[in-house]
Amino acid sequence: MPRQWNGHAAEQALATVKRRGRAQHLPCCICGRVIDYDLPGTDPMGCTVQHTKSRKRHPELTWVSSLWQPAHRSCNRAWGDRDMPDDWATRPTPTTGNPTSGW
Ligand SMILES: [Zn+2]
Repeated sequence: MPRQWNGHAAEQALATVKRRGRAQHLPCCICGRVIDYDLPGTDPMGCTVQHTKSRKRHPELTWVSSLWQPAHRSCNRAWGDRDMPDDWATRPTPTTGNPTSGW
C-alpha cells in the first residue's frame, strides 16, 4: 500500500507545490484564479495540493509530484475525489478581468 497522504510528507508536498506555484505564478488548477500563497493552509482561499489523478482512484500515484497542482482549499474540497480532466493543463486559463475595459 502506498503511504497515506498526511503528516510530515504531506506538509513537504504542500511546500513543494507552493514553491512551484509561487515561482511560476500558477493559478488554482480548478477555478483558474490567482492563489495568495501567503495565506495559511487553513484559509478557504489558501493553497492546497490538488491531485490531478484522484488519490482515491489512483493511490499508487499519490506521491508523484508531477501530478500535484495548487488549488484553493475551497475548490479542492468542492472538487472531491474526482480525477481532473485529461485536458485540464491545455485549456486556456479563464480570464478573471474584463478584457474590453480600457485600463
Ligand atoms: Zn480555485
